[in-house]
Amino acid sequence: MINLKSMTRAEMEGLMKELGEPAFRAGQIFQWLHRGAASFEEMTNLPKALREKLAGACALTVPTVERKQISRLDGTIKYLWRLSDGNCVETVLMRYHHGNTVCISSQVGCRMGCVFCASTIGGKVRNLTPAEMLDQVLFTQLDSGAEISNIVLMGIGEPLDNLETVLRFLELVNSPEGMNIGMRHISLSTCGLVEQIDKLAEYRLQLTLSVSLHAPDDETRSRIMPVNRSVGVEKLFACCRRYFETTGRRISYEYAMIDGVNDADWQADLLVRHLRGTPGHVNLIPLNDVAESPLKPSRRVRQFQERLESQGVTATVRRKLGGDIDASCGQLRRKRMEEEAE
Ligand code: SF4
Repeated sequence: MINLKSMTRAEMEGLMKELGEPAFRAGQIFQWLHRGAASFEEMTNLPKALREKLAGACALTVPTVERKQISRLDGTIKYLWRLSDGNCVETVLMRYHHGNTVCISSQVGCRMGCVFCASTIGGKVRNLTPAEMLDQVLFTQLDSGAEISNIVLMGIGEPLDNLETVLRFLELVNSPEGMNIGMRHISLSTCGLVEQIDKLAEYRLQLTLSVSLHAPDDETRSRIMPVNRSVGVEKLFACCRRYFETTGRRISYEYAMIDGVNDADWQADLLVRHLRGTPGHVNLIPLNDVAESPLKPSRRVRQFQERLESQGVTATVRRKLGGDIDASCGQLRRKRMEEEAE
């Protein structure tokens, strides 16, 4: 079956040619799909014969809401979507003053093994398709009625471990005939896969690259993020400098503040040294206090921030959203997996 929704507009035109249809039909189909059409029957401006032909040759699936949690504190909505093969992924809708932001998943599970992350329990099941990534944005908008203006690829999965798909998704969601979300409104988060960061740089996209750093020294970072064992912090920062030189885009560094692990003064000073000469922005993230986790929230967030800022590094403390619905990534899917195993 052809995965029509993962196709670019140009590829759809090629398909129309093969089917002996005029090229403008591709535009009509593209628009229907990017508005969230759930069947070919709905595409009423297409001839019936073409609708039937498409229904016979193409898969048209839409995700269903398996679970939905709405924060009473700030309106954050967390979705657990069930995909056509039964797997589930999470999407979070956050309401900021600058617009509605959706945080989407790029894989079912993740093989990166970060110790603070529920998404990696059970490893990676499979990559998502471009259509499944697009659907998270599209159906979150349709279900919530909130117009999405920003996207962060920071949900379940490592986006650069599924780079080809992510690049295609970006092309689709950026399309003026589709959701038309500008690259400057998109952030892509990575745990630091240097080869793929170098590859991404070649495309010179205007998105924001966000590196999940969480520690400035190899000993700590390798302990909490196994990916660091093969690369190391020095190589990662060298790669980030190359990325900035190639794209001209400032990198954002994510830093979850963990009590007694990465919140010491010397770690702030080391981070400053790494960032010297490369414009970057540090996002300090207050950790959620998860009862069963040995990692506890730092009590030194402000001091750490001040130490960075006093040495010329811009650092902000991220506002906690969805505190009452456990909005950190992977939690809902994990709960679902546990229930299914019972
Ligand atoms: S933090 Fe990101 S890269 Fe690390 S295990 Fe979780 S989903 Fe994977």
